[in-house]
Amino acid sequence: MDFEDAGSDIVSVVVTAEQIAEGLARMAREIEADLSGKRPLMVGVLKGAVMVMADLARELTIDVEMDWMAVSSYGRSTKSSGVVRILKDLDSSLEGRHVLIVEDIVDSGVTLSWLLENFASRGAASIRVASLLRKPDAMSVDVPIDYLGFDIPNEFVVGYGLDFAERYRNLKGVGVLNPSVYSDGA
Ligand code: 5GP
Ligand code: MG
Repeated sequence: MDFEDAGSDIVSVVVTAEQIAEGLARMAREIEADLSGKRPLMVGVLKGAVMVMADLARELTIDVEMDWMAVSSYGRSTKSSGVVRILKDLDSSLEGRHVLIVEDIVDSGVTLSWLLENFASRGAASIRVASLLRKPDAMSVDVPIDYLGFDIPNEFVVGYGLDFAERYRNLKGVGVLNPSVYSDGA
């Protein structure tokens, strides 16, 4: 789905499909430099990271494995008070693995800081983070992102895996959703 197919539902474009491809290529070159020969385990956080995982993994010139995790977070206030529940756990053991967490967006950083602690306790050899997008709040809790696509403004965005009520995930770029879409209750 292109922006024009979404009509007035998208009020501004934040990242185009072309910019996403460039950002992922830049991230891939950095990941290759760090993880070549280590056969990293890419862990995608469902469902938002599906598009990033699919395109980033294909852009990489090194051998990787992929696994998936689904979590839900409650409480977005601070890093330490964030409660995260596992909805679907990994199939693989992390013991001795070089893990690359793949995220669509880091906002408060609650999900990511919880995942980092959880994975560290499972005996991973190293844990790195790739996120396509980051919002300004993430910088105030200081969550480390090793490979970042783009810093974006603090607005609710959809597209390229990111949804509003399961819609707009299949938009090729990322844009700001028209507030009328929430109020319509559609
Ligand atoms: P965090 O734990 O960093 O606050 O938030 C992570 C999750 O919140 C993301 O994986 C995503 O599901 C959701 N999220 C944060 N900001 C946005 C946004 O602008 N749009 C959408 N669709 N989801 C967001
Ligand atoms: Mg996510």
